[in-house]
Amino acid sequence: MGVVFLFDTKFKKALGNSLVLIESKFKEKAVINYGFLINCAGLYADVISHNFNLALNYKIIPFKGLYLVYNEKDNFFINKSIYPVPDLRFPFLGVHFTVSDNIKVGPTATLALYKENYNLFYRFNLKEFFEVLCTAEILFMKKGEYRKLFFNEFKKNIKLLLYKEASKLVKNIPSLDKFNWYLAGIRAQLIDLSLMELVDDFLIKDTKDSLHVLNAVSPAFTASFPFANYIIQNYIIPKIRKDIR
Ligand SMILES: Cc1cc2nc3c(=O)[nH]c(=O)nc-3n(C[C@H](O)[C@H](O)[C@H](O)COP(=O)(O)OP(=O)(O)OC[C@H]3O[C@@H](n4cnc5c(N)ncnc54)[C@H](O)[C@@H]3O)c2cc1C
Repeated sequence: MGVVFLFDTKFKKALGNSLVLIESKFKEKAVINYGFLINCAGLYADVISHNFNLALNYKIIPFKGLYLVYNEKDNFFINKSIYPVPDLRFPFLGVHFTVSDNIKVGPTATLALYKENYNLFYRFNLKEFFEVLCTAEILFMKKGEYRKLFFNEFKKNIKLLLYKEASKLVKNIPSLDKFNWYLAGIRAQLIDLSLMELVDDFLIKDTKDSLHVLNAVSPAFTASFPFANYIIQNYIIPKIRKDIR
């Protein structure tokens, strides 16, 4: 139907008049024109929306989610995912068990040092490092409950402490040596800078020809058709109708 996908291509900058600067993985730059732009760039959705002068009082802070994986492939000790009762003060699920082709325990929610801090210096970004530090410091100072949360989550970087947390949910959990560290994920956590609060609902901002999904939080939002429907019904169809009129 004439759709062109530009894979491995980065949004660099909004140039105004429905033009954006993009860059390929080979660093080739190009200017493209858009009819309607949808920004759903996860960790970088805030940077892109700021390009459109939107959501200037919001910033995304990265939180690293570490998992342990059970390394006995065919001797599962549980057969269903198990979740703790969530602490409603915070937008994190808490350490839980996920059962698929393996059993995962986690995730933690520790402050990452920069947005793509999957491991030590992978894609290190100095500007993001200072931004994270400054925002986290203000959050720490402002709210004792966040300070406590950050500290408690940080402790779970120690394998034994993460394991102990998980043991609260399952009595017959196998011994610690049966678990190994697994790949980390980074959660894009939106902060409301005017209230200095973690935002725990999804947030959408728009202009007449662009839409920005700033906080696509979970659980169960990932690939969620009702969420896509909500955006189409409430944001896209009304704009198309206006154009037709
Ligand atoms: C540890 C962890 C566990 C989770 N567990 C669950 C779970 O069990 N269930 C659940 O529903 N959700 C879970 N989530 C949350 C879920 O992963 C997110 O809600 C979901 O990925 C958000 O989707 P998204 O499309 O908005 O962003 P993303 O999946 O982050 O996609 C954003 C995309 O934008 C691209 N991008 C970024 N910047 C640019 C740019 N400048 N130009 C072009 N492209 C760009 C990125 O490369 C990426 O492909 C978990 C998250 C973490 C971190």
